[in-house]
Amino acid sequence: MNKRLSTAKGPKGIRRFLVGDDDNGIALLTVAAVYFGTGRLGLSLGAAHGFATLVWLPSGLAVIALFRWGSGLWPAITIGAFLLNLFTGAPLLVAAGIGIGNTLEALVCVALLKREKVCSRLDSLHDVLVLVLLAAPISALISATLGVGSLLLGRVIDWPAAPVTWITWWLGDMVSLILVAPLLLTWSTLARAAPSRKRLVELGLISVSVVVVGLFVFLGLLRPTHWQYPVNHLIYPLLIWAALRFGPRGATAVMATFAALAIIGTLQGISPFSTGSLWLRLLFLQSYMGITAATTLILAAIVAERHALEQRKDEFISLASHELRTPLTCLLGYSQLVQRKIAGSDHLLVLQMLASIETQAKNLARLIADLLDLSKIQAGNLTFAEEAVDVDMLVREVVEQLQQTSVQRQINIEGSAPGVIVGDRGRLGQVVINLLTNSMKYSPQAEQIIVHLTSTTKDLTVSVQDFGIGIPTSEQQKIFQRFYRVAGEHKQAGSGLGVGLFIAHQIIEHHKGKLWVDSTEGQGSTFSFSLPWESP
Ligand code: ADP
Repeated sequence: MNKRLSTAKGPKGIRRFLVGDDDNGIALLTVAAVYFGTGRLGLSLGAAHGFATLVWLPSGLAVIALFRWGSGLWPAITIGAFLLNLFTGAPLLVAAGIGIGNTLEALVCVALLKREKVCSRLDSLHDVLVLVLLAAPISALISATLGVGSLLLGRVIDWPAAPVTWITWWLGDMVSLILVAPLLLTWSTLARAAPSRKRLVELGLISVSVVVVGLFVFLGLLRPTHWQYPVNHLIYPLLIWAALRFGPRGATAVMATFAALAIIGTLQGISPFSTGSLWLRLLFLQSYMGITAATTLILAAIVAERHALEQRKDEFISLASHELRTPLTCLLGYSQLVQRKIAGSDHLLVLQMLASIETQAKNLARLIADLLDLSKIQAGNLTFAEEAVDVDMLVREVVEQLQQTSVQRQINIEGSAPGVIVGDRGRLGQVVINLLTNSMKYSPQAEQIIVHLTSTTKDLTVSVQDFGIGIPTSEQQKIFQRFYRVAGEHKQAGSGLGVGLFIAHQIIEHHKGKLWVDSTEGQGSTFSFSLPWESP
């Protein structure tokens, strides 16, 4: 039942429930029955003075029912809670009071969530904090206070029993709202895409680990009988794994599995929460579970938020580079056309200006091309041609081309790397251009750059050596990351986006090669890449 139910407000809803002749009636009946059934189960587990329990699923279920299908479903909660308490032995008016309290709890919780526009995915810190710090504690407080108040007024319990009953009621409802509600909320919408094979393997791995660790920690599996040492902390790595890799859905699923095993183990007296009366054991267990669930939800939301932000940034880069490319191509085209038209005339200054417009436009085009490549890499669709590439010849061509643009610097080639590989000529040329332009940019005073070509029977290696500012050892791995630029002198040496080496790394990796750097600060750097090759 995915559609929102037509709002059957108040008495109309009750009438429909009683008549039971449409969708709303069936929904009301179902929710009331589930509320009643799960409530009975909860009250059978260590209830304080018969009416308040620490294992209370109905609060979370009620919130989900109203959140998903509309608050018009509230009579189902009132009826379920009323009948449950009547059945448990409460006088008519007391059962009615408790029913009202439980209904208000769900209505207030949902109203707060809706007012703050909380999304069922729980993938933002704001949404999780609204649930954990506002909606859950406040609504549980209403239910606990009205419930215990009704029991006191009806003389079902006396004053000395009130504090224990209240704390049990409040904590039981809170944990349900923090643990059960998020589980159902996050799983109430379908996943956006089918998981890849790699992800399925990871899913299998985490599931097995959760069950094994859960059984070990909470049910004593493989543990010596008189084991006294605390082992609860073993669940944290798995919760963090789930939150980091599977987001709020993964986190809630793992948390619910642990919670279920923990309750079973605690009831049997074999979990780490097995000292004292059943009520005391469940009290400590549930406060532990509530805090762990809240922390895990917060972590999962922060991670999800970060992913979403990254995705938006990548989309923006892709869009911006596409948009920038069209006007730039037009500018470049016209400046070349005008140059051709007035070539040979005596407008020397104008020709010089047009030439510099062309150079700058080409620089800009290169930056935009880098950004486009970057967004393709992020989207996983950077394409590569497969052709025969003579690496030695390719390097010599690129060197010759760049030498023409830099007269004050000599680029020398030493050695040779004869051999043809299968790969993308354009992309490999892009790597060589990047390494050479970097070596020019970051060695402003040096007069020479050396390109070393070597080959073995297994691979071909190209090294670009400069005698410039070098790179501190601590930065040498980081420069291959996206957007990373070394601070200080490097930023003054030349402008850049910090994406060239990242792209180069991806290209070499695609060719099953290696890209690395050897550098000494103040003396210069040597960037090398090797490509696998089979000598004939
Ligand atoms: P950028 O466009 O900033 O040059 P790259 O990804 O090509 O981006 O390089 C990343 C960073 O690595 C540069 O910002 C610079 O700090 C450092 N770097 C790259 N090549 C050299 C080099 N030959 N000498 C010194 N530092 C270098």
